[in-house]
Amino acid sequence: MKAKIIHEKCTMCQACLDLEVCPKGAIDTVPLLKITCQTPCNRGTCFSGFAFDIDKNLCDGCGTCLKVCPQNAIILIEEKIPERRGGKSNATLRV
Ligand code: SF4
Ligand code: SF4
Repeated sequence: MKAKIIHEKCTMCQACLDLEVCPKGAIDTVPLLKITCQTPCNRGTCFSGFAFDIDKNLCDGCGTCLKVCPQNAIILIEEKIPERRGGKSNATLRV
């Protein structure tokens, strides 16, 4: 599991950015160009030039950040395991 911020809900209160919240330091601000909201922003986020995001490579899914978000803007999602292409190995089995 990995934490994900629902940007349409985030009010940028910074509660999750507190250094004591995430033991992995996975929550940070990122340039807004990296964020793709699904609906038009009604929180003013688009005017700030940055947004809060979670580095999925650092997040271990502990869930601590979910408890501090007053907007319930952080959720845990299943990690997608990349499918292998082709499904067959080119290696030859020697017996
Ligand atoms: S789930 Fe845990 S590790 Fe992941 S961002 Fe939240 S506090 Fe950090
Ligand atoms: S605690 Fe929630 S509302 Fe506040 S900045 Fe973090 S994700 Fe956004």
